[in-house]
Amino acid sequence: MGVLSDESLTHHVKYDPLADTARLAHPYRASYAWVITMFTTPRLGRRRIVAPQLSESVRRHSRSRWSLPAGRTIATVLLATTALPVPVSPQQQPKTTLITNVRLLDGTGTPSRPAAVRVRGDRIVEVGQLEPQAEDAVVDGGGLALAPGFIDTHSHHDRGLLQHPEALALVSQGVTTIVVGQDGGSRSPLAQYFARLEAEPAAVNLASYAGHNTLRRQVLGDDFRRTATPAEIDEMRRLLRGELAAGALGLSTGLEYDPGIYSATEEVLALAQEAAAAGGRYVSHIRSEDRDLWPAVEEVIRIGREARLPAQISHMKLAMRSLWGQAGRLLARLEEARAAGIDITADVYPYVYWQSTMTVLFPQRDFDNRESAAFALDELAPPEGLLIARFDPDSSYVGKTVAEIAQLRETDPVTTYMALIAEAQAVEQETGRPAESVIGTSMDPDDVVELIAWPHSNVCSDGELDGRHPRGFGSFTRILGRYVRERQALTLENAVRKMTSLAADHVGIRDRGVIRPGAHADLVLFDPDRVIDRATPEEPRLPSTGVVGVWVNGVKVFAEGEPTGALPGQVLRRREPDETE
Ligand SMILES: [Zn+2]
Repeated sequence: MGVLSDESLTHHVKYDPLADTARLAHPYRASYAWVITMFTTPRLGRRRIVAPQLSESVRRHSRSRWSLPAGRTIATVLLATTALPVPVSPQQQPKTTLITNVRLLDGTGTPSRPAAVRVRGDRIVEVGQLEPQAEDAVVDGGGLALAPGFIDTHSHHDRGLLQHPEALALVSQGVTTIVVGQDGGSRSPLAQYFARLEAEPAAVNLASYAGHNTLRRQVLGDDFRRTATPAEIDEMRRLLRGELAAGALGLSTGLEYDPGIYSATEEVLALAQEAAAAGGRYVSHIRSEDRDLWPAVEEVIRIGREARLPAQISHMKLAMRSLWGQAGRLLARLEEARAAGIDITADVYPYVYWQSTMTVLFPQRDFDNRESAAFALDELAPPEGLLIARFDPDSSYVGKTVAEIAQLRETDPVTTYMALIAEAQAVEQETGRPAESVIGTSMDPDDVVELIAWPHSNVCSDGELDGRHPRGFGSFTRILGRYVRERQALTLENAVRKMTSLAADHVGIRDRGVIRPGAHADLVLFDPDRVIDRATPEEPRLPSTGVVGVWVNGVKVFAEGEPTGALPGQVLRRREPDETE
């Protein structure tokens, strides 16, 4: 239950990658960069979209798509039509940038050291005690920390990215690469999405998995509440091959969501074998993060073992009261699997609350079963910790908890919870689109620390550019400020490693996540004494403080608390092990 899943989108709407997610293809997603107001026009008897409004922080920080990028687009068009060389004066562009006077955290976890870094074009060319040369543009790092740009291995920040390519949520916390296509939901076909993003780049780099739920939806259509036939599995394999050829990192699943929840393990295994054959990986929002956690963990281990590919557990958590305190047991099981030769890893975000749908807490899909509803509120998410993030039948409930709404309705929380689901489903029935989302508190803070500290866990956000959950703006700076500086649960070097080189290893991205000659110049300069997240569930879009400068492919994208407007992000496609650039 990490996120409102993309597969719930593909469940209802044929995804059009060229429309991007935010606008017309998915106007119901309130947490996108645009908050879109919908109302019913009685005469027409159908919904239409009015008055898109940017949320305040995004509006303040966004730059028009048509200012700087358009200039470049026009230049490109001119170039293409006239085939004239563009004269670039050598004096205009310094050949190299020297970032001096920094505490270097190279991403590998080795102790930080004073150093300087020289960048030429999009690459790091030298690291060490370097003296300025004539062709250097010198940046004084002021003694602050310089690390590889952070890699978010489980991100939904692609939602609205084409409209807000400056990606404030990401660059303000030092993230330079996002990995999307998570929880079983991906853009389809990826080749088309990648081409679009290359024509209209963002400030950050992007890589994607191919989603099982997206494939399953394409093959099974509405008739998905069953296991797939061998012919259907073959068809999914064929589609997956296409996505892998387009550069997908591997296969992602979201087995707690429709339509993947109805798949047999053998179906997932067959697709994972297809991913393995292409040198890809497996990443999974596992089948249960609460009452059936242990069988779900066995399933992901089995897929890693039998399909012989690296398997990563998405946003690993123990999301049930009676599981609290059992992080040690979970990690021991994963260590045992690793000792048996299975490459199993995880990513974790640093919050005790998740964001998903109200219905995700019902694996049997028995939303009218009072016992199941009571179990959900007792064990999975207490009513005072279950915050409505979106509720189309009555938007005045947004920001209130189920406990508060029960008081308003003068009834008990279980009755309220069941009624809210029924009301949302009535709207979903009418519109064919998700109508609700919730933030639920269901983790123990000590478990979260223990899971993050596991040597094979890296940091992720599971966030969005304009989501209701603060993780979209604060995950990485929260680790640096609260887990490293305040709690001292991790060393700074180890935390940075979990955001950079380890993250890159876990998703199969090479030559990033490390500061060394030859690597791509994705860099973040930050103040370890000051860095902290500020976003909260009440104000989820408050940018972090303490990140001073961010470079992507050698180009500065964030400075002085603002995106620079530069959009040097690249699409990162999976490469064969022996391929070099
Ligand atoms: Zn998830």
